[in-house]
Amino acid sequence: MNRSGRLLCALYLATSGGLASTTVLTLTHGPRWAALLFAAASVVPVIAVVRETLIRDLRAACAGPRRPARSAADEIVREELYAACCERWWTSLGADHDAGCPHRIPRSSAA
Ligand SMILES: [Zn+2]
Repeated sequence: MNRSGRLLCALYLATSGGLASTTVLTLTHGPRWAALLFAAASVVPVIAVVRETLIRDLRAACAGPRRPARSAADEIVREELYAACCERWWTSLGADHDAGCPHRIPRSSAA
């Protein structure tokens, strides 16, 4: 992880800590619904740290000695394109498949 990634993770964790302490204060002096809201919000920066770590791992896995380094965004787009089914699936936002696609469910058996 580069310096900006580490700084971002530190900011995420500081934000999460601040929201967690606000949760405790709200539990003792505020409405319970606000405490639940702050507790849920304090988890979101932790998810961001996990995402940053995943991006770092993807970059490390793809940075071989013979391959040029790709950006993490390139890797994410590459994975999304690899996970796509057929062209109709892509253009219909996953609602339908091409006639020859093996993932197509015939309309007669659709509920
Ligand atoms: Zn398909």
